[in-house]
Amino acid sequence: MADNQDKLKQFDEFEHRLSGEIFETPSKEEPGREKSSWFKRRKQGILTTTSEKKETPDGLWVKCPRCKHTCTKLELNENLDICPQCQYHHRIGSSDYFAILFDNQQYTRLFDDVVSKDFLSFTDLKNYGDRLVETREKTNLNDSMSVAVGKVGGFDLVVAAMDFNFIGGSLGSVMGEKICRAADYSLDHRIPLLIISKSGGARMMESAFSLMQLPKTLGRLSLLSDAKIPYISLCTDPTFGGTTASFSMLGDVIMAEPGALIGFAGPRVIKETIKKDLPEGFQTSEFVMEHGFLDFIIDRKELKQKIKQLLDLFAS
Ligand SMILES: [Zn+2]
Repeated sequence: MADNQDKLKQFDEFEHRLSGEIFETPSKEEPGREKSSWFKRRKQGILTTTSEKKETPDGLWVKCPRCKHTCTKLELNENLDICPQCQYHHRIGSSDYFAILFDNQQYTRLFDDVVSKDFLSFTDLKNYGDRLVETREKTNLNDSMSVAVGKVGGFDLVVAAMDFNFIGGSLGSVMGEKICRAADYSLDHRIPLLIISKSGGARMMESAFSLMQLPKTLGRLSLLSDAKIPYISLCTDPTFGGTTASFSMLGDVIMAEPGALIGFAGPRVIKETIKKDLPEGFQTSEFVMEHGFLDFIIDRKELKQKIKQLLDLFAS
């Protein structure tokens, strides 16, 4: 027993010395004497400058922002970017949605040649033209929206999906033009249209040109409605500003991913305006659905099956 206690004490002492702390327990033979550490921190605090710090490679591990569960990027990808523990839906891009939805991941991309231009010579922290070039290189995308056509469960579907990593999925003139062209394609070929929204709102660098996309897209979508061609809207995290104020809320069927934030202005702005605390879960898809803005909430894993069901229903 005494042997065991001695060993524990030795182990404890070893751990303390290794961490550079002074071992505080005085020895029996010489009471009050402190043994010196093997390693000593001579200067206090972390002295490495930020520029000298070594970065961990990005994208190997992912931490869930909701439940803090950590898993590998690969594990998360295999689970369609849904947290295996709390079902939090991580943000994914347009090509991920195309891969999830289209049969055998086969589809044709449309209108990739439409690209943004800095026609106002707008400068905020950066020149808008430079920002566009930089973002294109970084994301490998032409703009915040991609359009593709293919088969979903055997039914033809045009899908227009947004990318949040391209200037916050902002609604600029290219997004508006691509939605119109996608609607035209749907009209010409009599194929239903799905728009997947993931946007922070209007692209301020395009000023009024950005706002003009609202009536422009709505006009074109109303032609679909006249021709009785279904338009489905899927709101994902986040769906805000100009998108909520226009096409995202006007589908024949409006659905959302669980826990997605959907609204017009952000909660801070609303709170400051109405001078009241906001209810719990404000602007989540569950809250928005309870208040009658959505038809249903759909888990990403069931998305394809649900869309197939809807297309089947519309076809008959
Ligand atoms: Zn989680």
